[in-house]
Formats: sequence, C-alpha cells, structure tokens
Amino acid sequence: MPKFARVVFDLGIDRQFDYRIPSSMEALVQPGVRVYVPFHSRRLSAYVVVVSEGEGHPGAKELLSVRDRLPVLSASLLALAEWISSYYFCSLSAAVRAMVPTGVREGHRAKMPLFVHLNRERVPDEKAIEGLCPRAPKQALALKILLASDGPLPMAALLRRAKVDQGSIRSLEKKELVRLLRQRVYRDPWEGEDIEFEEHLAPTPEQAKALAHLKFELGKRRFSVVLLHGITGSGKTEVYLQAIDEALRLGRGAIMLVPEISLTPQTVERFKARFTESVAVLHSHLSDGERLDEWEKLREGKARVVVGARSAIFAPVRNLGLIVADEEHERSYKQGEAPPRYHARDVAVMRGKIENAAVILGSATPSVESYRNAMSGKYALFHLPRRIENRSLPSVMIVDMREEIRQTGRMTYFSRRLLKAMEERLEKREQVILFLNRRGFSPILICGKCGYVQKCPNCSLSLTVHGEGKKLLCHLCGFEEAPATRCPRCRSQGIRFPGIGTQKLELMVKKLFPEYRAGRMDSDSMTAKNAHAETLDAFARGELQILIGTQMIAKGLHFPNVTLVGVICADTALHLPDFRAAESTFQLLTQVAGRAGRGEVPGEVIVQTYAPTHPAILAAGTQDYETFYRQEIPFREELGYPPVKRFVAVTVRGRKEEMVKWVCRHFAGMLRESGGPVMEILGPTPSPIARAMGYYRWQIILKGESVPKMNAILREAMNKLKPGKEIQIVVDADPISML
Ligand code: ADP
Ligand code: ZN
Ligand code: ZN
Repeated sequence: MPKFARVVFDLGIDRQFDYRIPSSMEALVQPGVRVYVPFHSRRLSAYVVVVSEGEGHPGAKELLSVRDRLPVLSASLLALAEWISSYYFCSLSAAVRAMVPTGVREGHRAKMPLFVHLNRERVPDEKAIEGLCPRAPKQALALKILLASDGPLPMAALLRRAKVDQGSIRSLEKKELVRLLRQRVYRDPWEGEDIEFEEHLAPTPEQAKALAHLKFELGKRRFSVVLLHGITGSGKTEVYLQAIDEALRLGRGAIMLVPEISLTPQTVERFKARFTESVAVLHSHLSDGERLDEWEKLREGKARVVVGARSAIFAPVRNLGLIVADEEHERSYKQGEAPPRYHARDVAVMRGKIENAAVILGSATPSVESYRNAMSGKYALFHLPRRIENRSLPSVMIVDMREEIRQTGRMTYFSRRLLKAMEERLEKREQVILFLNRRGFSPILICGKCGYVQKCPNCSLSLTVHGEGKKLLCHLCGFEEAPATRCPRCRSQGIRFPGIGTQKLELMVKKLFPEYRAGRMDSDSMTAKNAHAETLDAFARGELQILIGTQMIAKGLHFPNVTLVGVICADTALHLPDFRAAESTFQLLTQVAGRAGRGEVPGEVIVQTYAPTHPAILAAGTQDYETFYRQEIPFREELGYPPVKRFVAVTVRGRKEEMVKWVCRHFAGMLRESGGPVMEILGPTPSPIARAMGYYRWQIILKGESVPKMNAILREAMNKLKPGKEIQIVVDADPISML
C-alpha cells in the first residue's frame, strides 16, 4: 500500500496537496517534518500535516526529499494549528507559518564550527611534546595550548592563540595527535552576562495559597486555568517563578509570555537567575540566527523554559506542563495585522487544553473576558491584594479640568494642583512621571478662520503635527508632508496647532521647570537604536527628574524615587467608538498609577480629566478592579457585547468605494439569510476609520454565542460570494479593536 503525505506550503499557496512517499523515505516522513516537493516546475518546501496509507490523490507526485530529522512541529502543535485555522478563519498554511520562526523557515544554518580535540594518549604531558614535533615549534605550541585547556578548543580560537595556520593543525591530525570534530554551538544573546543564581523567596500566605493550588493541578497533569489577580508589585512574578520550578521538577517544560513592551533585560534576568541555562528567550529583537538557536534549544530539550512575547506561545517546548500569560489583558497579545489574527492568551488556553498543561493568566486589571470566566467558575481565581512589605498604593486625586478652566478663566493643560505637586516633589529631589497617551506635537492642523483641517490623502484621518509644527504625519499609513503656511481653503494665515501631544508637553515642561531636566519617551523619541534604554538609564540615575511619555512608560517600569505621576489627559481613549474604551482607559490609568510610590516614600497620582464622573475614571481613582467590573458587566450584558456574546468582524476593503459598499451590502444580505438563530448581523456600515492606506473599508459584525458556528456559516457564504480580485475580505474573530 503506498503511503501519502498531505502537505501545506511555506509560501502563499493556501491549499493542501498530497504527495506519494517513496518507500526509501517512509521511515523519515512523519507529521511535522518538512519535505521538498515538486510543484509545477519548481521545488518547494512544505510541511507534512498528515501521513496516510493508501488514501491519497491518485495523481499525486512523489516527494523529493526530507528536510528535517526531528519534526519542526509536534503533533500537539499541528492540532493547535488546525484549531487556529478554523477559529481565526485562516488557511492551515498561514497558521503553520506563524508557528515557525523565519530563521527556521528560511533554513538558516545551525552553527557547526570545527573543534580541535587533543589525543591525550599520545600527548600526556609537556615532555612528550618535545619528542613529537622537534622541528615544528608552532605545532608544539598548539599542542601545549590544548594540553593546558580543559577540553577541546574551537579551531578559530586555537589558530589565533598559537598564531599558526590550519595546515599545521591538519598535520597534527595526520600524526593522530589531535582529532577535528564539528560541534553544534548556540549563539547566545546573553553571552558574557554574569547572572547570579537566585533562590526562591519564602511565599506570603496569599502566594502560598495560589501555589498550593497550582502544584496540585500540575501534579495531576491535567488542563486547568488560574486567573491570578494581583496589583502591581504584589508578587505575581514570584508565583510564576515557583510554579515553573514545580513544572521543571516534574520533568515538564514551561512557556512564560509577557507583552513585548515589558520584555526587558530585567525581566529576562529574573528568569535566568532562577533557571540558569534551561531558559530560552524569544522576541523580535533577536537576529534570525539567534532566534533559530533559541528555538532549537527548546526543540531538542536543552532549554525547557521559554520567556517570550506573543509568538512564543508556539515555542516547541517539550512535554509542556505550564503556560503563563502575564498582563493577560494586554491588547498586544492579539495579532491584528495579518492572518492568523490570533490572541496569544486564548491560544495559550487552547494549547493548555491540548497538552494537558496548567495555565496561569496574571494581571492587575484582568480583561473582562477572563474575569467573567473566573466568576462563572471556569477559571480558578486567586487574589494578591497587597503590595509586598505592605507598601501602600499611591493615593489618586482626580482633577476636573472643566472646573479648573472655569475658575482660572483660561485654557490650560496643567491644573494648579498638578503644578504645585510637581514643584514640591522636584524640590525634594524626588522624580515625576507625566503621562499623555498621544504622541506628536498637536493632534491637528486647523485653520483658525474657516475651520479647515488637514487630512491624510490615503486615510480618513486628520494628520498629526510633529516637530513643533514643521511636519505633518499620518499615524496610520505614515504619510508625511510639510504643513501649509496659508490655509489651502481660505488662504488666511491663521493656521493653528491646537491640543497637545507629548512633544508639545515636553516643550511646555521645559519652559515651566527650566531648572530641572526632562526627558521624553514615545515611539518618535526612539529613532536612535538605544535612545530608549539611555533615557531610562538617565532617569534611573536621577540625571533626569521628569519623564514624559505615552503608554510606553505605563508598564513594568520600577523607579523607587518616582513619587508623583501626573496624567495630563485621562480622556484620550475614553470616547473612541469602541465598546472596550472604558476598559482600556481603566486599565491604562491603573497601570500608570502603579508607577508611583514603589520605594519608601508613598506615591501620589494626579489624574486630569474632562469626564470626572465617568465610571472608568472613578474606578481608576479608587484603583478598585471589582468596582470597575461590576459596573462594566451589566452594560455588556444589556447590549450583548463580548464576552457575553462573541463578535466576528468582517471588513470589506477595496480602492473603489461604490464597489466596496455594494459587495458589503450584498454579503450582509447573504449572511442575514443563512445566519438564522446562530447570529445577528450588525451593519453594514463604513468602518470607524472609513479609509485607510488608500482602501475604503466597510464592515459587518457577526454577533452570536459561538465563533465556530458563526465561522461555519461565514465560510459557506464566502465560498458563494466570489467578490473578485479588487475586493479583499478580512475576517477577525474576537476583534480587539473596533476601529
Ligand atoms: P508583580 O509581578 O506582581 O509586579 P513581583 O513578583 O515583581 O510582583 O514582586 C514585587 C517585589 O516584591 C519584587 O521586588 C519581589 O522580589 C518582591 N517579592 C515578591 N514576593 C516576595 C516574597 N514572598 N517575599 C519577599 N519579597 C517578595
Ligand atoms: Zn481657512
Ligand atoms: Zn494615512
């Protein structure tokens, strides 16, 4: 009976194909390995997803060769890929590609340098060397160096140290005094860093409770999810570390997910200090070669713990026992740009289910989704309500900016309260963080006479003013131009840059507090490679007294001397047309507030707002998650918004507006007909950003109890639709942003 391999391709071809397995390769071909196959007149690399006996396409060609000794994807990861392709509505090929790092896909070579081994039987000591090469002092020196070293030396190092050429070493090899062997070495991004081993801390009673539960579940080797709700600095990471240790003790591996932005050297060092060489690290700043090596270490079982950002959820950890997603509410866990549009936290839960692993979701401000699962008993819930050593949480004061303007009779970005607090803190040589979640100089260019606003030619967004008014920039597509000096519409010279971004804020702070040094951190301030780290270092050393920034500074930073955090405008995200606007605002404010008072001196937070009675702002004021959740959930229930019901967003895109509109209407009609009791169809409407990068966008939201059921109907309708080449249809299950 002939055997067949069903494969998916590595590039752009979304269908699956069958190939006959030559009998000589039968032993090597298994699911998860890569093979070369003929495709038209080309030779392509593909992943084997299923091996079957006799049940292949009768016209199948033979595959050419096998690329891997070990599967690139385990059976569990292949099962996960199947789930992703079905749930997130993408091809299996796209799901598989997301799992394998570029360096592996492009076949970067593992580093296999030559090592020189000394034949100690022939060369037992220095005396022997004299007799072995009397007329070759250089060879003798090489032997002496080898004799003095503990083990084999890399060829390159030996050549350098003995100042000989390869020929000399080759003659030593001929005389059987040395042996040359190729040996795998791993590029180590942490090479040369001295990280001291650290013992576990004695857990607090709350930590101990969570750990006891986790150890019990790990011991049972079954799937379970724990939501660890702990304010910043309450010791969540310590719980992760000790739970991972337990998994290792049981002979299992672990994945530690953190948002890219908090994947700092400090974070990684904490893990390296506990688990030394069994930790691999995966993130976007590694070179392809480094990433390949970290990945290989995991696949071969040389490393058993991985610390990484979103895509580390696909790391080939062997015998996976535990997955942790820290800051599980973070939006950056959702891949929004390209398929698969997966949410790493949700994939973590699914991977845990497939591999019988325990899952910890940790956050100070859990997503409404996860908290609801904890409330319904699906997840176990543990609280860490106190900061370690009972350090107090900062006090939060909310300042009503409408009232401020009324009382002072002028428009301002700094309330008297904030100015006074800044003066006091700075005078005592304490440090201040000012937070404004809007980069640039000013959000718009407007004509003071006729109200004209300069928009992006490619997107339906106004252009942001940068560089003190020297540049206009589209934050969506990157379009750039110089601002007009006269209004293009009425020719008046009354061009203005109202409102405030971090650049204008920096300028104002420097004018208001000329005797103190201020630094700014946002994605514009980081053009130079290490500007980011340098600003933070300068702040840590106290050379900067004021740090200004966007959400980039809201997370993870630990500066004990920061006693005041000022939120310049808490409302920037509050009124976005997105049902998660309140949730995001609450989360962000709570995170920012957590930067204050991390040392001995208690902290103070001043939140300026035009919506002082908004529930999300009030809840952030008391930093009380439960209050926020109890207010938010009835609103979601009433409107049937996630997590009460689920959304699948369908966006129709194209360059011709009329066609986009027509296709979207037509498609919505089809879905309404077949949607029946499974789903409700919202729309079609133009997307909140109706035009982006030159494409018009209309959207339909499917709302129902079950994403797989909605997808099934959607898939059928899509097959019938045949929208033509000029139209793209993008499907996003559980969309994180409604824009
Ligand atoms: P989180 O992850 O919740 O922000 P961490 O685990 O980073 O909190 O803990 C905050 C600080 O408290 C760290 O400096 C950590 O070393 C310390 N810490 C955590 N747990 C303990 C403990 N059980 N005993 C003493 N110190 C602890
Ligand atoms: Zn004008
Ligand atoms: Zn644009």
